[in-house]
Amino acid sequence: MRLLLVEDDMMIGEAVRLGLRKQALAVDWVQDGLAARTALGTETFDLVLLDLGLPKLDGLQVLKWLRGTGNQVPVLILTARDSVSDRIQGLDAGADDYIVKTFDLNELAARVRAVLRRRSGRAENVVEHLGVTLDPASHEVTRNGAAVNLSHREFSLLEALLERPGKVLSRAQLEESLYGWGEEVESNAVEVHIHNLRKKLGAEYIQNVRGVGYRVRAA
Ligand code: CA
Repeated sequence: MRLLLVEDDMMIGEAVRLGLRKQALAVDWVQDGLAARTALGTETFDLVLLDLGLPKLDGLQVLKWLRGTGNQVPVLILTARDSVSDRIQGLDAGADDYIVKTFDLNELAARVRAVLRRRSGRAENVVEHLGVTLDPASHEVTRNGAAVNLSHREFSLLEALLERPGKVLSRAQLEESLYGWGEEVESNAVEVHIHNLRKKLGAEYIQNVRGVGYRVRAA
């Protein structure tokens, strides 16, 4: 994912850029409205984080120009001004969401993900639980916004566990979810795959309930 950050406040810009990079989001940063227009006119982005109070050309003008060109890239407005009229004007001009400064970086990352999800039209399909998302359609799994590579079998086990977070599934129940792959399941297959899942998602995320089975940690 490649984001354009339009922000003239150096401290906020730097913090957002670093914070989103940690979430595996590539961020291009420009600091005034004209530079934003140039970047948007020449490059392709997955999402725009747009400050409203900008030098040369303010954020609303950038947004109106952008939508006027027919560009439907998702736009999330960053505004220091917690005023209803700013938000209404921004949303009316084609923004997808807004966030009021000063915001928590984790909240910003979550809003970014939510906007991207909504735009991809798969909001209902994606399972999200405690920072982990699982998309049954694309078989993509993310942890804190970063992609996690799972084997098909690991994916199937995680999908089964995420159906009811907090509910313990026995080894036999988990084995059932592996049969779909059309091969014989080795006697220790569940343990091996769970071991790998815990390495990839964190040992605390998938809990071993001794003598009973496994579960995904409840909220
Ligand atoms: Ca500003």
